[in-house]
Amino acid sequence: MVGKRFVDILDTTLRDGAQTRGVSFSMQDKVSIALRLDEIGVSYIEGGWPGSNPKDQEFFRAIKNYSLKNSEIVAFGSTRKKGISTREDEILNTLVKSEVKTAVIFGKSWTLHVEKVFRSTLEENLNMIEETVRYLKNNGMRVLYDAEHFFDGYKEDPEYALSTLKAAENGGASTLILCDTNGGSLPLEVGSIIRTTKKALKTPFGIHTHNDGGCAVANTLVAIAEGATQFHGTVNGLGERCGNVDICQVIPALEHKMGLRCLKGAGENLRGLTALSKYVYELANQRPSDSQPYVGRNAFSHKGGVHIDAMLKTPRTYEHLEPSIVGNTREFMVSELSGRSGIISKASEIGLTLEKQSPAVDDILAEVKRLEAKGHHLENATASLHLIIMKHLGLDIQPFVVTNWISTTNLKSGAMSAAEVDVKVGSKKYHEIGEGVGPVHALDLALRRALLKSFPDLKDTKLLNYKVTVVDSGTGTASEVRVFIEFSHNKTLWATTALSENILEASCKALIEGYTYRLVANRLPKH
Ligand SMILES: [Zn+2]
Repeated sequence: MVGKRFVDILDTTLRDGAQTRGVSFSMQDKVSIALRLDEIGVSYIEGGWPGSNPKDQEFFRAIKNYSLKNSEIVAFGSTRKKGISTREDEILNTLVKSEVKTAVIFGKSWTLHVEKVFRSTLEENLNMIEETVRYLKNNGMRVLYDAEHFFDGYKEDPEYALSTLKAAENGGASTLILCDTNGGSLPLEVGSIIRTTKKALKTPFGIHTHNDGGCAVANTLVAIAEGATQFHGTVNGLGERCGNVDICQVIPALEHKMGLRCLKGAGENLRGLTALSKYVYELANQRPSDSQPYVGRNAFSHKGGVHIDAMLKTPRTYEHLEPSIVGNTREFMVSELSGRSGIISKASEIGLTLEKQSPAVDDILAEVKRLEAKGHHLENATASLHLIIMKHLGLDIQPFVVTNWISTTNLKSGAMSAAEVDVKVGSKKYHEIGEGVGPVHALDLALRRALLKSFPDLKDTKLLNYKVTVVDSGTGTASEVRVFIEFSHNKTLWATTALSENILEASCKALIEGYTYRLVANRLPKH
């Protein structure tokens, strides 16, 4: 690895990323994420704005109890207020007091913002930038200067935008970060603006992009190809509006495709990328994006039979990268198009070994094809598929039997729906009732109540998602529907599907399969 150019990552998940709609990190979340970022080896972790909120201040205090091996914690702040001295600016002085060695200071590059938002003069803005950077430098800090709206500012008044960078340079900034704050710049303009800008600078430059035009990754890569020594981004592209650039997409591009390095540590850290992405989704209370490049669940999943066949011969045929490089896994979706290999690979997910020549493979395949022809979608309902495999291998997939169920709704009175369920577990028989907001809800409550008598562990099993799709329009309302239900237990997810002309029957079948799977699959595949 000697000789490769190193590009520093400044992760701003805890600052820009914390501004994502619907996301709120607790102080402990922030500490936990910082530790994971240190583990993967980013150079800088932007912890927040100590002057702007107490939670950030607490974070800077708490993180001092840990010794980080790769990352440096940096604090964020703005240039001094207009019309006062740096010494008088209380918010600025909280940065000095934070005992952090490096500060990221943002200042205005765009005349529109200086005149319309700051209501200040262009001259005073330049003074604010230069004096703030110098003040922090004189207090022993290193300053990374964030040129907010640099590209938009440059497009309107290139000379002024450059003079703001000069002001930061004169103040002693160690890196000038060109920000595409509104996220609307395109790769070609970013490239050409950087080419002229860098000629005017003596100081190294970095890049900070947002994804409003869908070009955050491209813009970052272009800037790095033009010589940026540092890029700012967030895990999973968290951030206001459409988010910041996703470091999970930039890192593998640099480390694996552009012959550069950006992760500190032993060189194996890239393998932790998928786990990092999932961890941050978890703490952000977000559902992972299946189609996220590199780290998404679908990033290396293959469905078409022709694709799968080619993949089994040479994975490079339909993959741009070996998934294990980023800690992801290859998955073959079983569909009516795919064959024996797909079934064998699915069986191995639950720890079952199937020989290629085994007649069971043919039987399973025949059943899958028959069901898919009827309208089942087994590729997403892996639990239903795993149960079919288990059944053909002679495993017991009937820990309980539902002998009878009734669900009724009285629309007139606006009352709750009611359901009754009879369940047999071995020689024991249970009759339970449930009341819910709708007939499926009532049915689920009655079924769970009956099952909990014998399987108390099911109480932590949750229903995450319930979907109904019309498969085949019959006459009038006699259409066949497909029900898809997703379940979770701790961090394991699984899904079932069932088909019927009776929506309640399809729902009941899918519920039964879901609980059955939880009870019989001894090694549930993790997602
Ligand atoms: Zn930003």
